[in-house]
Amino acid sequence: MKQSASFLGLAETLKRVRGTRSKNDKVRILAEYLKPLTPEDAKVAARIASGRASERGSKDEAQVGYSTLLGVLREVTGANEGDVSRIYLRHGDLGEVAEELLAEKKEQPLFSEPLKLSDLEDAFARLRSLKGQGSSVARKGTVKSLVLRATPLEGKYVVKVLTGEMRTGLVSGLLEEAIAAAFGLSKEESARAHMIIGDPGDLAEHAARGDAGQIRIQPFRPVNFMLAEPMATAAEIAQHFGGLAYAECKYDGVRAQAHKSEGKVRIYSRRLEDVTSGFPEVVEALGKTSGEFILDGEIVPFSEGHPLPFQLLQRRLRRMENFDEAARKAPVTYFAFDLLLRNGKETIGLPLSKRRSMLSRLVQGTAVRMAESTDVASEEDVEAAFRRSRASGYEGLVVKDPDSPYAMGKRGKGWVKLKEELDTLDVVIVAAEYGHGKRAGVISDYTFAVRDGDRLRTIGKAYSGLTDAEIDEMTRRLKEITVKDHGYRREVKPEIVVEVAFDSIQRSDRHDSGYALRFPRIKRIRTDKGVTDIDTIEKVERVFAGQRLKVDEK
Ligand code: ATP
Repeated sequence: MKQSASFLGLAETLKRVRGTRSKNDKVRILAEYLKPLTPEDAKVAARIASGRASERGSKDEAQVGYSTLLGVLREVTGANEGDVSRIYLRHGDLGEVAEELLAEKKEQPLFSEPLKLSDLEDAFARLRSLKGQGSSVARKGTVKSLVLRATPLEGKYVVKVLTGEMRTGLVSGLLEEAIAAAFGLSKEESARAHMIIGDPGDLAEHAARGDAGQIRIQPFRPVNFMLAEPMATAAEIAQHFGGLAYAECKYDGVRAQAHKSEGKVRIYSRRLEDVTSGFPEVVEALGKTSGEFILDGEIVPFSEGHPLPFQLLQRRLRRMENFDEAARKAPVTYFAFDLLLRNGKETIGLPLSKRRSMLSRLVQGTAVRMAESTDVASEEDVEAAFRRSRASGYEGLVVKDPDSPYAMGKRGKGWVKLKEELDTLDVVIVAAEYGHGKRAGVISDYTFAVRDGDRLRTIGKAYSGLTDAEIDEMTRRLKEITVKDHGYRREVKPEIVVEVAFDSIQRSDRHDSGYALRFPRIKRIRTDKGVTDIDTIEKVERVFAGQRLKVDEK
């Protein structure tokens, strides 16, 4: 068998990719590197190039916390805490810190072979499998054995992939192109296969084997969800469709893709994680249907014909100790609205009208319900449907084009959404402080940021909206992801996403985005979203521009 390729080759490639701004050059450099690799190596390399140490959607992550990595770097290099924070402040990137520190490595292994791609894959697999008590020592040991063998450049990329902060500019489309160019696929074939298979590593492996063209949607391989474009008014929506459209209630629950084949049912979240065990009653309802399928829909806390507050679902999602009680308090119903696969045949290319009639036959006579829908053709129709949806306790509408295909992973114009309140923002927490008075001893003030290209920009601080139990849980998680502890204030790794509502946006010097939210309050913790899904500064500018009253604090 051919030996696995050296990791240094990949680290050097990623450095070159990072060093050029030209998209064509990024694609060419990565393609040249991938071309001679075996399918197994191509998988590892493409996955690392995408910034991940595990398969997309994998239940077990190989990611390692900042504090573990910092501990390893200090042990291996003999640096003290002061050195490390000085270097960190200079770069703001742990990978760069690793490279600088490793250039002066103190500890050396007795004998050390250069790292191979397969060594990384083995270490990642081990990190994914380590759980529970005592695992933190073993995790540290696994990371240390990699870092000890790494050159400074390799160390930098080991750390970058383990923190999920690659920043090479290799967005999904460029990776698809590079894989296509390396293994003789067309860009379209590569994009299509990627959309279905979801993971760039798996795509590269199939491409290198020569069978990426035959990839089809399959049960138990979750695919990316179709998303909706926001619109501000019923008039805009009516004009956009210019004729008949389906106005479905916008349910306030969790998005869920349900797969069934050979009598087995699995449910996947918006992040393509397997969440089957959290929803036994949905599994039971889906078990009563016939044949094989993949459905898209929303799991909604629902009882006696009415939706229940979303917050009741949070406990279930977090799989609290008393799951049965949480499930009793928040019974759920699965509202299905789309069909992607039926009895071995892909249905995503069929018009929505056809998919819906197949779906309705499929769920008939079971506890799975079709999303409520009204035909609309004018502004008045959209408005009436919106009011009806709100009166029934839903968030608004998702209006859909009857002729549209199911566009996996796309926020297209086939689906548009209408909500009542001023938009909310999905933001990530970057720093946090201890509270006062009743909230002394818990971390209850959160500074959050939006995305500006590769960077995060702060835009506000919120200290209301969460329950005491949620604040306790937040305190625990924030301590875990602390990067720098200033006593009363902590900088944290940006990974907790929250949805904030606010009264308005004003220009302000208080935050580095140049804007501040007025009266921000946390609507919910978005466990279904990661830092790449948060809202952008462009959206903030759009909302600001659309406000009637513009306040400029400056
Ligand atoms: P939001 O924060 O508004 O929920 P999002 O970013 O999670 O948005 P979008 O695709 O932009 O996702 O908005 C549509 C969301 O609304 C879906 O993710 C889904 O969870 C939810 N939803 C509720 N009812 C429907 C429906 N009938 N059709 C499609 N999506 C629906």
